[in-house]
This record gives sequence, structure tokens and C-alpha cells, in this order.
Amino acid sequence: MKQQYLALTGLLLATKANAIELYINHNLEHYSVELSREQGEAQINDLCFTTDSEESWIFVKYTDGKEVWYEDGGEAGRGYVMPDKNVLETILAKQKEVAEISHYHIHPAKPSVMATPHHPSIDDSYYAIQIATNVLEASPDIVFDDRVVTPYGIYVQSFADEGLATHETRTKIRNIVSEPVIKAVETGNFPFDFKSDDVSVIRSEAHRYAAVISGENVTVTFIEMN
Ligand SMILES: [Zn+2]
Repeated sequence: MKQQYLALTGLLLATKANAIELYINHNLEHYSVELSREQGEAQINDLCFTTDSEESWIFVKYTDGKEVWYEDGGEAGRGYVMPDKNVLETILAKQKEVAEISHYHIHPAKPSVMATPHHPSIDDSYYAIQIATNVLEASPDIVFDDRVVTPYGIYVQSFADEGLATHETRTKIRNIVSEPVIKAVETGNFPFDFKSDDVSVIRSEAHRYAAVISGENVTVTFIEMN
């Protein structure tokens, strides 16, 4: 009987844990969920294959170890999301309790949503620089990065404090992340094969892409998923 009870409790806990999920929010009211970084990343990665809308979240690790995901998508729509700045402001109002912040958004795999889900857009990088600056201004003690969850992995963009210090240094990073892509588009020679049917090709191209848009004061890496 005792064993049965324990088994039942375990099942209930498991059910409850599974019920906590990140989802695409079509309401104006935001939600938040207590969930580890790893669990949240896996859930967003799964969403890549089912959703036809973009969405964004802020992951916060607090100094006491608590991990919370705050959905902050403003105008979530097909292939486009403009995060609601109020969510970050609310989190930064208690900056002394915050150890880490990551801003996340999803790139759905469906070709009808995004032409190129497999890499960050130039605007993604520009937005990452802006939000990194906001976090740094609130507190230099908070570790920040920006993460784009694509079907086969996550791009992590982070910036050195020196690179975020002034308008000029930020312009420099903006050029580093955008110039290789702009040049590729202008010459009509986009040197990455993201259209391959072979997932391993897409992954290796993603690593190469991350290396190309990295540079002084900006580091981009690709973490493989799936
Ligand atoms: Zn994007």
C-alpha cells in the first residue's frame, strides 16, 4: 500500500511537472513559469516544429538559484515578434536579486513562417545589442546573453562590456554582426547552405555562421539540439 502510494505521488509529481510548459501566447497578458534553463530550452526547441508563430521569453536565474521564464512577446505573429519592454523593466527593477538573464526567441521550422529559420537575422543581433545594453546599465553584475532557438540548435550571442559602453562601440559591434551578411546578400552569394536536406550540413553551417559573425567584443556560438 505504501509503495503504491509512493508510486502514485511520483506519478502526480511527474504529471504536474509535465503540465508546466512554455507556449505561444496569443493574449496580451504575459505568463511566467518556474522551469530550469535546460527544460525551457528543450520545450522551445520542440515548439520550433509545431508552431506557426514567433514568440519570445526572458529567462532569469536569481541569486538564490530560482529559475523563471517570463514570456515577453508583444506582437506575436507569423515570423515576427516585438518583445514587450515592460517585462524586462519589471525584472530589472529588482536587479540585486538577479544573477543571469537570457533573452530568447523562437524560429519556427515551417517554411511558411520564416524563409530562413536556421540563423539569426541582422535585426535579431541589433535587438540583442540593445537589450544587452539595457541590462548592463541596470547592473554590470548580471550575466547576459541572447539566444535564438532554431530547429536544430541554439545561437548564443554575448557582448563584452567595453563593446556596449558607448554609441560608437555599439555601432562597431553592429557592423561586425551585420557586414558579412549584408555583403553576402549584396553580392548575391550567400555562402551558407541552410537549404540542405541533411541536418548535419545545416548544423555545421550554423557553427560556421556563428564564427563569421563573431568578432571583437561579440561572441556567437551554436549549441546543437535534437
Ligand atoms: Zn529571429
